[in-house]
Amino acid sequence: MLPADLKLIAGPCSAESYEQLRAVAQQLDSVNLFAFRAGIWKPRTQPGAFEGAGAEGLGWMRDIQDEFGLNVLTEVANSSHVEKVLAHGFNMMWIGARTTSNPFSVQELADSLQGTEATILIKNPTNPDLKLWVGGIERLYKAGVKKVIAIHRGFSTYDKLKYRNLPNWQIPIALRAEFPGLEIICDPSHISGIANNVFEVSQKAVDLKFDGLMIEVHPNPAVAKTDAKQQLTPKEYLELLATLNVRSREAIDQEEIRELRANISILDNQVVEIFAKRMELVEHIGHYKKRNNIAIFQPNQWEEALAKFLKLSEDAELSKEFAAEVFKLIHQESIDIQSKILRNSDPGDSAS
Ligand code: PEP
Ligand code: MN
Repeated sequence: MLPADLKLIAGPCSAESYEQLRAVAQQLDSVNLFAFRAGIWKPRTQPGAFEGAGAEGLGWMRDIQDEFGLNVLTEVANSSHVEKVLAHGFNMMWIGARTTSNPFSVQELADSLQGTEATILIKNPTNPDLKLWVGGIERLYKAGVKKVIAIHRGFSTYDKLKYRNLPNWQIPIALRAEFPGLEIICDPSHISGIANNVFEVSQKAVDLKFDGLMIEVHPNPAVAKTDAKQQLTPKEYLELLATLNVRSREAIDQEEIRELRANISILDNQVVEIFAKRMELVEHIGHYKKRNNIAIFQPNQWEEALAKFLKLSEDAELSKEFAAEVFKLIHQESIDIQSKILRNSDPGDSAS
């Protein structure tokens, strides 16, 4: 059983047609939804991709609101969006992650929302910057917005680990400490990036006592115009709600250890790949030294490289003994590789 007051927001990533919205709303009719979501203006990474249904979609959303008695919400990124959303009688809207990253945009939105009665949900910025998120919320409060809810959707990184956007759970937890009464909803869809991980992120959010879940649901995710990989079918969403539970501390700890181990194993793979790349460069240097009759071991070069490595390790708070040992092993392996090259006669080398 889930906490009865858990705020559930569901709906497709993008509004694609009235029929598409209606199919989702109808199949989720048995769920006590806090709100029904769909993006109408979509922030796309590259131009030319589907950028949303635009103003026409607002009419579809209002019809869903009337027919199913649901609160509906969409993403707003500028004052013209706010004006249109309010004119269509929406009492909620969300500010997307890319917009929260830009204080000029958040201020423009706050100005256009002065004293509104509508509930404004604000996602975290795309970068893991707690202060920027706090600043966005402060701009809304200063503009007299009374009902503000935060949405945690994870943070983007260059290195893709398990998730599309890293959850960095400590950041929403720190946000809660900044604004003790503020409700925070988790968006497992954008954290996960794939439908298969939505359940475990949702369970984690429930374990951490988030106030709600915003999950993308599409009648046929395979043909979705945006975020096709991460959307659930209505059936999968209903199953997810039925399977999530309030778990014991012990179960939570076990899950955390499993997750840490999985991340360690991803990093171990990267360590091996980096060693392999390093040794490939060492081979190139070995051939160069052979062609040019340069001694393999260069004491000055070794001391300089060691000092640099130790300094980096110290800055990264690794123990000096560990760092020295690792570098010695790397260096020894490099010398062995180069010695082998020197011993072998290589036609390529003698020709040059
Ligand atoms: C969305 O909710 O569909 C969306 C674009 O989200 P975000 O701003 O978190 O990327
Ligand atoms: Mn989306």
